Amino acid sequence: MEKTFSADIIVVGGGTAGSFFAWRMAQRGYQVLVFEKQKLSDLGKGIEIFHMEKIRFEEFDLPYPEPPELIHTETINYTYSPDLKVKIPIKGTFFVMNMPLFIQRLQNYARQSGAVYHENTIIDEPVIEDNALVGVRGKQNGETFEAQAKLIVDASGLASAVRTQLPGSLYAENQPVPAEKCLYVCLELRSEIPEGYPTGSNGYMYHKAFWNKSYGTDVILGIGQPISFEHAWQKHKEWRETYFGDPGVVVGTRQGAIPFTRPPFSLIGNRFMVIGDAANQNKPFSGEGVTSGFTAASIAVDVADAALKRGDLSLKGLWPYNMRYQTGQGAKFAASLAQLPATVELSQKDVNYLFHKGIIFTSEDFERLNQNYEIVFSPPKLIKIALTLIWGVITMRFSLRSLITFMKASSLAGKIKAHYLDYPKDPADFQPWADRAKRLWNETGTN
Ligand SMILES: Cc1cc2nc3c(=O)[nH]c(=O)nc-3n(C[C@H](O)[C@H](O)[C@H](O)COP(=O)(O)OP(=O)(O)OC[C@H]3O[C@@H](n4cnc5c(N)ncnc54)[C@H](O)[C@@H]3O)c2cc1C
Repeated sequence: MEKTFSADIIVVGGGTAGSFFAWRMAQRGYQVLVFEKQKLSDLGKGIEIFHMEKIRFEEFDLPYPEPPELIHTETINYTYSPDLKVKIPIKGTFFVMNMPLFIQRLQNYARQSGAVYHENTIIDEPVIEDNALVGVRGKQNGETFEAQAKLIVDASGLASAVRTQLPGSLYAENQPVPAEKCLYVCLELRSEIPEGYPTGSNGYMYHKAFWNKSYGTDVILGIGQPISFEHAWQKHKEWRETYFGDPGVVVGTRQGAIPFTRPPFSLIGNRFMVIGDAANQNKPFSGEGVTSGFTAASIAVDVADAALKRGDLSLKGLWPYNMRYQTGQGAKFAASLAQLPATVELSQKDVNYLFHKGIIFTSEDFERLNQNYEIVFSPPKLIKIALTLIWGVITMRFSLRSLITFMKASSLAGKIKAHYLDYPKDPADFQPWADRAKRLWNETGTN
């Protein structure tokens, strides 16, 4: 007979989002099963080094990291104009950390609270009954099994292993993220860097690249680019050779893809929730997804707990997750994502002009973006920005085309944010909302 499991909640994927969710639900007394296709100790090895702001540990009530999980602490990150003539300090303490050890810490918290992990266990398909998701089927050590639960949570990252297998009648946006809507992140680890090169954390916004400190005196040269890994490595090489040549020795490379597109309009189905990279909840201005996944998971925990207590895991019972996510972080990220095409079109000359004139790109703006995920300009500042851009066009230091694209994108971003803030309170009103949202995204050219 086929092996079977049952629990209150099944989480597919034991990465940062899945483990955080499993931990919090187990703390609330639910039986939680986590199915992870990889060996648990291998998770995060493909990225190895990542960073997280100190304030997020406080926000999510997480103990601070300690060595060896904590590699070092930074209090400032510099960002540069493409001509390197302007260097802007962005204040804010963040931890540079070892990803596998951080994930293992989350898994330990979840296990200590009662969650049960199954590693090397792949989920292949959903089990549907009466148009509700009642379980999943998968393989463990080559053996097939079926697991049933009151609620199934897809936290399987870019694979979106459950979301993409659901029938359209249960979950409309079941398409995988296409390759062209991913961001390819490539990291080069270098050692023995001679004197005279950057120290600390440094961002090169125009190139979507960074030079950061890693272990000891070693550094990471990283880039995030669309299209493909080949394209991203090529851009990495061009950027590195233009600015730094070939310093020190390469001691390793890491790479990974993250979704870089809007989240589905609905994050739930009948007895189903999706969180983290599986729901494209990454920060649009950096691609980072650990803490934005925690924001979504925290809402999902509250909503799932209330729904389980009421015994209503239907679309209506889980709807508050949609409402709270889409009108909060979702609305801010949507506005920011809608602005991206205009930002991408800016030339080096345009970006230099913005840095030199100290508009949009200032320490305060970057700090606000990191903390609140949006920059809200006061009317006088907006007038100053508009006048400075127009002056840039007149003096031929900022292109007219960029100005027009920028203004159009800002207006559309404002409309999209307002639409998300008006997310329907009742699932019955969802379809007209989704239709208009689709039209607005089509206008941005990024849907
Ligand atoms: C190179 C790189 C650097 C990054 N740096 C940062 C950073 O500094 N800060 C930051 O916040 N973010 C960073 N990110 C993004 C961040 O890593 C992700 O946003 C985050 O890890 C997403 O977490 P998740 O739990 O949603 O998905 P994942 O971490 O992808 O976890 C999903 C898990 O599901 C498992 N899974 C998949 N399919 C199945 C299946 N069928 N059955 C069972 N299990 C399955 C996978 O094995 C995986 O372990 C970086 C990403 C990359 C690629």
